[in-house]
Amino acid sequence: MTGGFSSGFSLGLTGGIGSGKTTIANMLGELGAALIDTDLIAHQLTVPGGLAIPAIRAQFGDEFIAADGAMDRAAIRQLVFADTEQKLKLEAILHPLIRTETERAAAEAKGDYRIFVVPLLVESGSWKKRVDRILVVDCDEETQIRRVMSRNQLSREQVVAIMRNQASRQDRLAAADDVIVNDGDLKNIREEVLRLHKQYLIFAGGNK
Ligand code: ADP
Repeated sequence: MTGGFSSGFSLGLTGGIGSGKTTIANMLGELGAALIDTDLIAHQLTVPGGLAIPAIRAQFGDEFIAADGAMDRAAIRQLVFADTEQKLKLEAILHPLIRTETERAAAEAKGDYRIFVVPLLVESGSWKKRVDRILVVDCDEETQIRRVMSRNQLSREQVVAIMRNQASRQDRLAAADDVIVNDGDLKNIREEVLRLHKQYLIFAGGNK
């Protein structure tokens, strides 16, 4: 297996914001796959007591740590938004920790096969090499915008700005081994998910 983490079949699941990654990943999880959510892992690094907090405090100062001990997201976002050097410093703290914590989660994961949910998988050369197969959750861009506006209480412009910082729909589809078009009835999508899951079980070859 080419998967860089550990033995067994590894699927990388990606898609643009609001495409339905979490929804599809949860369906596969219910069917028996082990989910490793890199967004969640990244988030946990910067909550109160998170592993990245001491380094963030040392690098950027107390003013970037909120009263509850979490990273002050708004302050950090503002800092790195216009300043690439600061952004790279933050990434230099977070990326190695995300990697080690993801490896730990992968080693502990129990399921028929592993699914790494990685929003920016296509953008990252290393991720593409670390998984055996890539599943892209795809949907119409207007649908993405509508879903994220209502889920995150964002304006259309804010959602479009996030999408512009992600790979294009075309680039994602070009990297895909499998695609789920998630813009219809969830009942039909569930059937498609089951079909893929059965295929992944064959790839996993009974490896647990
Ligand atoms: P992502 O993880 O890619 O950002 P989510 O799975 O969180 O996307 O989906 C975004 C929003 O759209 C969620 O509120 C989810 O419940 C909803 N959603 C996802 N797929 C569908 C669908 N096929 N039909 C209707 N709503 C959906």
